[in-house]
Amino acid sequence: MNLILMGAPGAGKGTQSAKISEKYKIPAIATGDILRGAIKAGTELGKSAKSYIDAGKLVPDDVVIGIIKEYLSTDACKNGFILDGFPRSIPQAQALDNLGVKIDVVLSIEVPDDKIIERMSGRRVCSCGASYHVEYNPPKTENICDKCGNELYIRDDDSRETVANRLKTYHEQTEPLKEFYEAKGLLVTVIGQEKVEDTTALVFKALDGIKA
Ligand code: ADP
Ligand code: ZN
Repeated sequence: MNLILMGAPGAGKGTQSAKISEKYKIPAIATGDILRGAIKAGTELGKSAKSYIDAGKLVPDDVVIGIIKEYLSTDACKNGFILDGFPRSIPQAQALDNLGVKIDVVLSIEVPDDKIIERMSGRRVCSCGASYHVEYNPPKTENICDKCGNELYIRDDDSRETVANRLKTYHEQTEPLKEFYEAKGLLVTVIGQEKVEDTTALVFKALDGIKA
């Protein structure tokens, strides 16, 4: 199954993508994680991406398109994949079309803005990719990752001001993709629930009906 996962920042894409990846045995490609990895490693890519990310803006299309092209050409993706955080603009979606990549379904997780803001303020993440919320999805031991035992931290771009900018960017540049994929008959929406497992149940229900 070739899947695109959409949703506002903090809608729970990363969390659900891990569940889907496990169930359907397909890798998840998260452009945000790849960019943060590049920043941490201090590469040229990371250096050029950081200012955009910290401002809550999109990293230029050609940069992320280059990343996606590279990942999709690997063997790991030949039985399917999850795109988490790509495409995020109409030009990115067109680039995906131009690469000849066939998409089976576009799943959008819907969460209202006020909920998003509440969630982001409690978000804690781990360098292994795991993500938690102090209230809604706490780790077993405070501030320690269940999966790898590393200490959790707050993402630089989860500050209040950047979150507001990310939401604005989402509504202006990413949300039009819903119409784009709706027109292709690919869009499926799921309402994000309070509990992670309730959203996962809805996601699985939506995906089980997809022929891929
Ligand atoms: P979230 O969806 O929670 O905002 P991500 O980890 O997916 O977080 O992305 C973090 C940041 O990385 C974005 O705000 C943006 O600056 C950059 N980014 C990630 N994916 C893309 C993309 N496809 N195009 C442009 N910028 C991107
Ligand atoms: Zn971890």
